[in-house]
Amino acid sequence: MPTASYDLHLHTCWSYDATAEPEAHFRRARELGVHTIAITEHHNIDSWEEVAAVAGDYPEVRVVRAAELTVTTSVGNVDLLCYGLPVEPPSALAAVLTEYHDWQRRAGSTLSAGLQALGCDFSDDARRKLLQTYRPERSIAFQGVTHVKNGVLRGYLIEQGWAADEDDYHRLMKQVREQVTPPPYPAVDRVTSAVHEAGGLVAIAHPPQYFLNDDRARMDRLREECALDGIECAHPNVDASLTSLYREYCRTHSLVSTAGSDCHDTTQLEERFAQHGGPAEWLDEFLERIIQR
Ligand SMILES: [Zn+2]
Repeated sequence: MPTASYDLHLHTCWSYDATAEPEAHFRRARELGVHTIAITEHHNIDSWEEVAAVAGDYPEVRVVRAAELTVTTSVGNVDLLCYGLPVEPPSALAAVLTEYHDWQRRAGSTLSAGLQALGCDFSDDARRKLLQTYRPERSIAFQGVTHVKNGVLRGYLIEQGWAADEDDYHRLMKQVREQVTPPPYPAVDRVTSAVHEAGGLVAIAHPPQYFLNDDRARMDRLREECALDGIECAHPNVDASLTSLYREYCRTHSLVSTAGSDCHDTTQLEERFAQHGGPAEWLDEFLERIIQR
């Protein structure tokens, strides 16, 4: 696949499940001649200061301020890419972002409580130590003792002997959910209205899992319920035939089409940065829409 000139879905170590340093994205963009990127942290905008500081050394790389916010909808949890956010979030968006910070710590402490109820000694302190194995201290200091990346948690539980293997890990997690109720993600309406009020665009991320590939009724329902401005038509989890189908759907409903690699670490940066297959014209439409809002 040819390298695109942009990548609108990237994570840094300010996302609970990612390890790439902000500058790694800029270095890779420079190497590959990628001129526009969006850093879309899970549930926060905490990397913005560092990203802005690094961006000064890479004037040829434009950065779109963004975040990937997971919301509760009538059909379950959905990841929404929110683009074109202002440097200073207005009060409604600031409140939503505070809610996500709380959510991350509550999700973590609920996990600890659930495992402890099953006799596994996974205290908040043990969770902090596990986070310290892959997250920089500055992210933990700022965000607190959050939930843990799936693969890291699985490895740890197997290593502790609390789960025998991957299947057993899923069984254990099911038991955890019988002990404790994880906090729900913030409600879709509150999040999308705060993003829109702040002048941002909302695009549904890696849509096959939410659209049941190409279920029109589901697409219409989520387009309305999530007040979508766009769809991530190209992503490693979207095959080429779905990409064209989603692009057609965007044209029918005047939505923007976005594309991103969803890189979380340096290996992925090497392997798939800007390798999404989205054409350059999508970016022009996208940038125009951001400026209009
Ligand atoms: Zn993502």
